[in-house]
Amino acid sequence: MRGKFDNIVATVGDTPIVKINRLAPDHVTMWAKLEAFNPLGSVKDRLAMGIIEAAEASGELRPGQTVIEATSGNTGIGLAMVCAAKGYPFISVMVETFSVERRKLMRFLGAKVILTPKGAKGLGMVAKARELAEANGWFMARQFENPANADVHEHTTAREIMSAFEGERLDYFVSGYGTGGTMTGIARVLRAERPETKIITTEPDGAALLSDGRAQERREDGSASGSHPAWAPHMIQGWTPDFIPLVAQESIDNGYIDEVVPVSAEASFSAAQALAQQEGIFCGISCGATFAAALDVAKRADAGSVILCTLPDTGERYLSTPLFADIEAEMTEQEWQMAHSTPTAQLERS
Ligand code: PMP
Repeated sequence: MRGKFDNIVATVGDTPIVKINRLAPDHVTMWAKLEAFNPLGSVKDRLAMGIIEAAEASGELRPGQTVIEATSGNTGIGLAMVCAAKGYPFISVMVETFSVERRKLMRFLGAKVILTPKGAKGLGMVAKARELAEANGWFMARQFENPANADVHEHTTAREIMSAFEGERLDYFVSGYGTGGTMTGIARVLRAERPETKIITTEPDGAALLSDGRAQERREDGSASGSHPAWAPHMIQGWTPDFIPLVAQESIDNGYIDEVVPVSAEASFSAAQALAQQEGIFCGISCGATFAAALDVAKRADAGSVILCTLPDTGERYLSTPLFADIEAEMTEQEWQMAHSTPTAQLERS
């Protein structure tokens, strides 16, 4: 995608699908769709565009009306970008545990950020956003229930995948879920047009809601009425809130999911670092997690299998998180020795 665009929102989507060359087992072919190429660096730019444009079209969102959303960060950053470009004030409500980079990015884009206590979990931030929307007559994006979420993936992400793999094998599609928009939107199209493609989802091993199998309790509007009993706090930001979102529920109810692969935080961090250091693909924690699950599938797959995974965002969003905990800021012993092996511009050790 190159050339001229009417505005930044028009650059959302059409992200590249890149071959995994050094980390893929020899007997398979692996591809990754890099959502970091969206203008604000994540898959959620698509959702932001989809929800705002659907609400504009239906008249639910009026010119200049304030937009509010409960978000783990990337949705807020995407909405802040779309709202800035289209002239809507935007307020993001997020749990205090999400990375500081996310808050600062949203504020830089002109948004207001309201933090909620971690004890109140994901549902606490949703309840706060709903309350503020009702009290002030603001438009709430409702990413966990809004049909425009999976729709935008059905109409953009899935179409991009269909055209990239037209006439070619695609044996496995691997995706995690936060709202489930990516998974459900793509699964709708794969099930209709590529029924042979196995759909694999993945979730944190310590918050394995889908693997658990117990149903999510809901209100009449489809929103979750309480935390799922299998949930526990986990390190994979953007994945698996403390409830099964209605958007993800569609994939369960329609039998779209062939297998659920649980992934640990450690496997996610090391897969993200391996992608960076051996493929040059710089991405975030949920990308590492998705790729770890895709590798697990790859190892078990028949020879010649083709595996595609979606990598939701960029690693730059995690500098203050445990993803970078082992990354030194100071020179190592080996670097000191290199620096002192020639005479010019040597630092003195303190
Ligand atoms: N990874 C990250 C980093 C995210 O922010 C999100 C969205 N919350 C996801 C994965 C999951 O995407 P979806 O909401 O489409 O399921």
